[in-house]
Amino acid sequence: MASDWMQEGKCKDLPPALFFPSDGVGVDVARKICAECPVKLECLEYALYHRIDHGVWGGASERERRRILRRRRIAAESSLLD
Ligand code: SF4
Repeated sequence: MASDWMQEGKCKDLPPALFFPSDGVGVDVARKICAECPVKLECLEYALYHRIDHGVWGGASERERRRILRRRRIAAESSLLD
């Protein structure tokens, strides 16, 4: 299945609420767990692809994911102009 990687995630046996923090301290806690996760890239790409708005995925906060998507959109648009 496309999301088999989830079984490998470091968060697998942790409370999901840890990854849906309400403040910056909580984001840092989640990020530290993600930093050691073997499927960090798969997780981040999954959240980006599915436009998941909430939570920390692949070590990236909501704001960071919006920034990544914006950068990719700009890069794609500028490559169309080349
Ligand atoms: S990167 Fe973080 S949220 Fe994603 S699977 Fe790993 S521990 Fe879970």
